[in-house]
Amino acid sequence: MYDLDLVLKIDKNGNKREDTKIKIGGKVVGEDFFFVSGPCSVEDEEMIERVAEVVKDTGGALLRGGTYKLRTSPYTFQGLGPLAMEYLINAGKKYNLPIITEVVDTRDVAKLVEEVDAFQIGTRNMLNYPLIIETAKTGKPIILKRGMNTNINEWFNSAEYILSMGNPNVILCERGLRTVEYYTRNTLDLSAVAIAKNMTHLPVIVDPSHATGRSDLVEQMSLASVMAGADGLMIEVHPNPEKALSDSEQQVDLEQYVELVEKINKTVKFRNELYK
Ligand code: PEP
Ligand code: MN
Repeated sequence: MYDLDLVLKIDKNGNKREDTKIKIGGKVVGEDFFFVSGPCSVEDEEMIERVAEVVKDTGGALLRGGTYKLRTSPYTFQGLGPLAMEYLINAGKKYNLPIITEVVDTRDVAKLVEEVDAFQIGTRNMLNYPLIIETAKTGKPIILKRGMNTNINEWFNSAEYILSMGNPNVILCERGLRTVEYYTRNTLDLSAVAIAKNMTHLPVIVDPSHATGRSDLVEQMSLASVMAGADGLMIEVHPNPEKALSDSEQQVDLEQYVELVEKINKTVKFRNELYK
């Protein structure tokens, strides 16, 4: 039983909708394989610039960095807010990369819309309809992460909210579900990627960093995501993961990132050849 309309590949009259393509920076999401890369949190100016340089060298990406963070504990690092935005903007300008950050509060939307190339709605806010609606109204691309406790239908419905506000620029992001497992932070639901690709016309990306919580699993889950049909990957990368102020265990370092992108690009080539 589905209650969806605009997100679906096939409309009510049985006609196929065009796959959504979204221009961000010099890339077309849904056409070019797409990376969203950067540290969990923007901690200072130097670290985000070091990451941006490597991201640029490996072919570019939507440069991500947490600025306004939502942390489980009120006693851990909460993000640098506007100062982090300033560093992220500068790094994006310096290396000519588009930027994205998570929007966590409807009151921030008006300012952030002037600063970012795309918005991220995080797992904790996938059911926050007022925030989704306010962000949708900007018309900017939105990466909509799947809620950690939500089913695929609820995820698609949140995307439906954005589309029904007249904003067609939605990218779905699978980032793992909370399950009984404790060897991983979450359980990556690759079947959701396949379903999203089969049922909707939207681009779908995977975040193997939050899905596993373990940098040693990021490569395997990235390659598996490509084979499951992902249009892109969101990867947390930090110059010195052990010293990271948030999500230290899941971030790859700069060397690992370079190697990872090479393997992902090879896998994308293989997949595209296989399914052409
Ligand atoms: C993030 O990407 O920084 C993040 C907090 O992700 P999620 O909302 O998936 O936990
Ligand atoms: Mn993180």
